[in-house]
Amino acid sequence: MIETDALIVGAGPVGLFQVFELGLLEIGAHVVDSLPQPGGQCIELYPDKPIYDIPGLPATSGRELVDRLLQQIAPFQAPLHLDQEVSLLQRRPDGRFDVATRRGLQFIAKTVFIAGGVGAFQPKPLRVEGLAAFEGTQLHYRVDDPARFAGRHVVVVGGGDSALQWANHLAETGPQAAASVTLLHRRDAFQAEPAAIDRMRALCEAQRLQFAAGQVSGIEVTDGRLTAIKVLGGDGVTRVMPLDELLVFFGLSPRLGPIADWGLALERKQLVVDTEKFETSEPGIFAVGDVVTYPGKKKLILCGFHEATLAAFGAVRHVFPDKAVHLQYTTTSPRLHQLLGVE
Ligand code: FAD
Repeated sequence: MIETDALIVGAGPVGLFQVFELGLLEIGAHVVDSLPQPGGQCIELYPDKPIYDIPGLPATSGRELVDRLLQQIAPFQAPLHLDQEVSLLQRRPDGRFDVATRRGLQFIAKTVFIAGGVGAFQPKPLRVEGLAAFEGTQLHYRVDDPARFAGRHVVVVGGGDSALQWANHLAETGPQAAASVTLLHRRDAFQAEPAAIDRMRALCEAQRLQFAAGQVSGIEVTDGRLTAIKVLGGDGVTRVMPLDELLVFFGLSPRLGPIADWGLALERKQLVVDTEKFETSEPGIFAVGDVVTYPGKKKLILCGFHEATLAAFGAVRHVFPDKAVHLQYTTTSPRLHQLLGVE
């Protein structure tokens, strides 16, 4: 059980900057995100595209912005809990909040900041009758431990970076290599890094990897085990492809998910906040960034940064009820310099 002044749901750009603004007010924070890396939409959707409207940075990219934010918040040492979807948020009898993730992390927080953007990114599922029952045993949407595929017959479905990278990796990992790896995609054209495509073709040439064009149309199950998939080829013929493990990489899609179940006022799937403190309908729970709505709201990163600033000030009375807070400048305040470690 982790006790904290503030728990931030979402490590997108706005959730990360929230750490900074809370830190300047000496409010300690933990950050939780369902993705395995911080950065939200900037990293998931446009890591290498240029962004031109971050104040003071005439041009940056999603990845560079996130790297800079991580650097900026480093002095506050806020733990990042990644690969963890926050599923539960409820008030405790003592006024604080119980927060829990699907995978069992538990927090007690004096304040909560929801920076959930367009929702928790989830892998897009392969929808074939009966297949979902094998998720976590023989059906995988992410790879936590590549060693588990050693000596197994693996089919990797998808045509993007993740599919190609994992197919290549599993086909070439020395003694930990899979017994066989087949990459299955709708057609022989991929949306992945050219280097990964070249590597895939070289591995096919060397007969360490097979490629098949087609779509999964069904499964075969024997004694409760997934033994094969049925693949509908471009020629209209359905073939049976035996396997031990099925890896599916269809990309990620955001799902507002649990945030909608926490009893907070919503308007068109967005959290209603005031524009003074960015507090939700529940005192002590703040919301910032793309997840909020208020008159005039614009889904821009710089708007989220402003919201995070006012939300941090709004939280002070919950964390330090007796403390008077004055605005200090980072240029001139010795105390802020101390907090930032610049003296
Ligand atoms: P997000 O970036 O969406 O991050 C939210 C995070 O919360 C995610 O990582 C998600 O996994 C996590 N999360 C949600 N629910 C949970 C939960 N229950 N448990 C754990 N984690 C959870 N904006 C600009 O200002 N300038 C631009 O040029 C610009 N270009 C863009 C280009 C594209 C293609 C797109 C799609 C958007 C662009 N935007 C731009 C918009 C900008 O990316 C968003 O405004 C910004 O990412 C919002 O940040 P956020 O932190 O609020 O949310």
